[in-house]
Amino acid sequence: MDLQTLAAIVGPEGLITGADVRKRIVSWVDPSPCLALAIVRPASTEQVSKVLAACHAAGQPVVPMGGLTGLVRGCTAGPGEIGLSLERMHRIESVDTVNRTMTVEAGVPLQKVQEEAEKHGLLYPVDFGARGSAHVGGSVATNAGGNSVIRYGMTRDSVLGLEAVLADGTVIPAMNRMIKNNAAYDLKQLFIGSEGTLGIVTRLVLRLREMPRSTQTALVACARFQDVTALLKHMDAALGGTLSAFEVMWSEFYRTVTTPPAKGSAPVGQEHPYYVLIEATGADAERDQARFEEVLGEAIESGLVADAAIASSVAQRDAMWELRDNVEVFFRFGMPVAFDVSLPITEMERYVDEVLERLAKEWPAYQRYVFGHLGDGNLHIVAAGPPDRAAKAGIERCVYEPLAARSGSVSAEHGIGLEKQPWLPLSRSPAELELMKRLKAALDPHGILNPGRVLPA
Ligand code: ZN
Repeated sequence: MDLQTLAAIVGPEGLITGADVRKRIVSWVDPSPCLALAIVRPASTEQVSKVLAACHAAGQPVVPMGGLTGLVRGCTAGPGEIGLSLERMHRIESVDTVNRTMTVEAGVPLQKVQEEAEKHGLLYPVDFGARGSAHVGGSVATNAGGNSVIRYGMTRDSVLGLEAVLADGTVIPAMNRMIKNNAAYDLKQLFIGSEGTLGIVTRLVLRLREMPRSTQTALVACARFQDVTALLKHMDAALGGTLSAFEVMWSEFYRTVTTPPAKGSAPVGQEHPYYVLIEATGADAERDQARFEEVLGEAIESGLVADAAIASSVAQRDAMWELRDNVEVFFRFGMPVAFDVSLPITEMERYVDEVLERLAKEWPAYQRYVFGHLGDGNLHIVAAGPPDRAAKAGIERCVYEPLAARSGSVSAEHGIGLEKQPWLPLSRSPAELELMKRLKAALDPHGILNPGRVLPA
């Protein structure tokens, strides 16, 4: 494709070529130089539309780029591909405190959205570790999950409306501001979670919630998996809908993040098989804390909880979350092979036992860790050891094959990208995949948008 065509649309500062492209990295998981043909940086929806119309006419593949924090190689632009970054579209347009909405351009970092909401006493509840770099548009395109899904749902549940540009440059203005709108098809859902394969999200109307005024946090240990699931039911029922996190760590994970060289110290002993980080949020600090302790006390009395530590300061709360968020620990042993699966909670114990047994037998040189958002049925499994292509394929079989019989998903919250594409048929039926291909063909007939990601090219 003639890059002059693009330069004429976006101006000189809107187009990066040659050595300047190589100065950029591929992504958070691959810090090698970006090999894209060029990176185009439109400054408005109109420019996005003209860029896509030109690429559509030329049959030029386009890879959308957000903050490059994805974990499935969904935005790695390679040779012959043009990266499309909305980094110049980072305006917060307005906050409406009565309707509790925020209107933004897609290139705003997630953390900026959270901070802007907070200034108005409001909460944008989507939150995950990469908040400082991730673009809110990318989090919508991937329907990101995170640590408070149990209370507020996935990103999808916090998007009221959006504007998207189709492959041929057609702008779809679907900037709905209402919670309810059943006037025919909810078109925004086509673009949420489709990883930039059906259109480019350019602007958003986000749903805000009231900012909680109190937070209660505890780290507890359980002796049996059935106690963990009973504890989830008990806490959720007794707290009346204020449970906002229920993060489980299997013993090996907990031991590693609370043993030097890891910096964290252990709030409760290391001898238990399961650990749960529990959090609730409310509106009355004193009464909420008393209720939280009472409900946790009941769980201890009934034997569901073997040991417990309640955070009595912000510093203690942060220290508990740092244990759960300590992913650096996996890199000590080389490049980790990381998974993001989901399955019914009732299947989880046997599934994890089966996977860990298989990994121990077939890949004994790899450290094995299990943790995740158990309240959402979402587990992260990590095998850490020497980087090795054959080992990676073998480890994938150990993790994915036992999922099939349980109708689990190969991606709970990270998406498919290039990374999980070969495994997609394990989680989706032939009829579902066929409908996805028909949607793709209807919206992107020349197949220029993120080709080969999610669906085969
Ligand atoms: Zn996660």
